[in-house]
Amino acid sequence: MRLLLVAPPGAGKGTQAARLSTHYAIAHLSSGELLRKEVAADTKIGRIAVDYLRRGDLVPDELVIEILAGPVLQAVGNGGYVLDGFPRTRRQAEEAYRVAQLVEGIDLQAVVHLEVRREELRRRLLARARQEGRVDDTDAVISHRLEIFDSETEPLLGFYRSRGLMVDVNGEQPIDRVFVDIVGALDTYAPVDARRRATGIEDAGTR
Ligand code: ADP
Repeated sequence: MRLLLVAPPGAGKGTQAARLSTHYAIAHLSSGELLRKEVAADTKIGRIAVDYLRRGDLVPDELVIEILAGPVLQAVGNGGYVLDGFPRTRRQAEEAYRVAQLVEGIDLQAVVHLEVRREELRRRLLARARQEGRVDDTDAVISHRLEIFDSETEPLLGFYRSRGLMVDVNGEQPIDRVFVDIVGALDTYAPVDARRRATGIEDAGTR
């Protein structure tokens, strides 16, 4: 199984991805977490990524793809993955599709979108800032990350939706309820063919 979680900052991707990973016995791969680990370990990639993270800008696609490629391929041989925070750009979506094509025997792929209103996203991110002190959870950087979501990532949603399996879930409900809704939708929704097509992005320009 291969799941993509595409949602704005603060929507609850990390929380739901962790649960989905346990429920389906698949790997949880968070691009943001992997990047923060590179920064903490002061690797070559970490030293480049740190300024992007601090500003709330997207880290260049090549770097993100480089740190995810190994874990994704490993997960593929192990039942699959839930990708949290990737893809975030058109180019990343194309890369996700390319990798998916290399893999045989995958019986579900879906894109999960958590819907949360802007005020609630801001409220949650500011609350997280107080608890965790993440460098990018300040008011100005939060606004910037939301803008980047709108310009770079939001356009992917329409594309995935038009292709088949897109699971839209109300992310403002209690955590357990959001989880039940996601699993319920994944277990009942959309024919396998649509699922197979769901993350194909190759003809997005012709719509
Ligand atoms: P959030 O979704 O709350 O912003 P993440 O942990 O997913 O939190 O991401 C934090 C930061 O990591 C992003 O603002 C960005 O700088 C970087 N990042 C994460 N995923 C990607 C990605 N797929 N492409 C580029 N940058 C990314």
